[in-house]
Amino acid sequence: MIIPFFLPHIGCPYRCVFCNQRAVTGVRQNVVSPEQFRYQVKRFLAYRGEQRDRVQIAFYGGNFLGQKKNQITFLLDEASKFVAAGDVDSLRFSTRPDTINDESLDILEDYPVATIEIGVQSMDDGVLTLTKRGHTALDSQKAVHLLKQRKYEIGLQIMVGLPGDDEIRSFSTAEKVADLFPDFVRIYPTVVLKESLLAKWYLQGRYTPLSLGSSVALVKKLFLFFAGKQIQVIRMGLQASDQLKNGRTIMAGPYHPAFGHLVYSEIFLDRVLSHLNHRRSGVDAVSIKLHPRNTSHLRGLNNQNIKQLKKTFLLKTVQIISDSKCPTDRVVIDGASIPVPQ
Ligand code: SF4
Repeated sequence: MIIPFFLPHIGCPYRCVFCNQRAVTGVRQNVVSPEQFRYQVKRFLAYRGEQRDRVQIAFYGGNFLGQKKNQITFLLDEASKFVAAGDVDSLRFSTRPDTINDESLDILEDYPVATIEIGVQSMDDGVLTLTKRGHTALDSQKAVHLLKQRKYEIGLQIMVGLPGDDEIRSFSTAEKVADLFPDFVRIYPTVVLKESLLAKWYLQGRYTPLSLGSSVALVKKLFLFFAGKQIQVIRMGLQASDQLKNGRTIMAGPYHPAFGHLVYSEIFLDRVLSHLNHRRSGVDAVSIKLHPRNTSHLRGLNNQNIKQLKKTFLLKTVQIISDSKCPTDRVVIDGASIPVPQ
């Protein structure tokens, strides 16, 4: 369980071409009073009830280690009180790679920070320059090495569809990220947010975003690549929010409130299609057993996957059996157990 604090642009003197964090999060202010802080943590803890999963307080939405030292320690002091009381297990935050150095990490020494996420975005210096990130791929590599020395859990965030990027460069980024052995990865498709520099480029015809279909297809390939390396992808696509849903925030690009679901649906469809392709012809029914958590992935949005299976193989019946005893990383098709990466 994550108790999130979104502090847009906090500690960040840059303006990446795609960035408009106030629009994405809907949060206008990037300061929080001790009272607001405690109120929000207690509200989340009350919601948790009797659940006993790991609980972390998280600071997202900017460049945590780019803040002044007294701002960093203020937030960590407040959050640490909940860890000392036993209500929260540890802390996490996201930050830019070029703010991770021995001096900034020394500030964290006495605090229960367990997880640090780095906004890598790309490992291609040309893409990073065009995107006006203000750091290089080497900065990300050095940052990960420093975090590993101090034994932090490490998450790396990457983007697809950035200016100057393409599928080959995205794969090269994924390979370089995998070589750093992060604990987890997030993959975000680039969308054109209003009031960002990318919005201006889009209107001038200087930038064309990926379509939703090609973005899902590319992120699926990257997901499968990371799954093959046993690196967990914990998020694909921007977190859905009221701001993103109302259509006043996004100008263009592959935003979908259930982007990750679209990726998983394609993966399940691919697996079933590939299995049925090798089946003898003349059979007009199929039974597919899987864990209840995966049935919506198999069906796809509006049952699209089932419709496609019926059309492709002239099936009269696709029987879906939801079985909690079925492993979440398998699908059983007419008795044959097929692995599905998770
Ligand atoms: S580093 Fe992060 S907060 Fe700063 S401009 Fe770029 S995306 Fe926005």
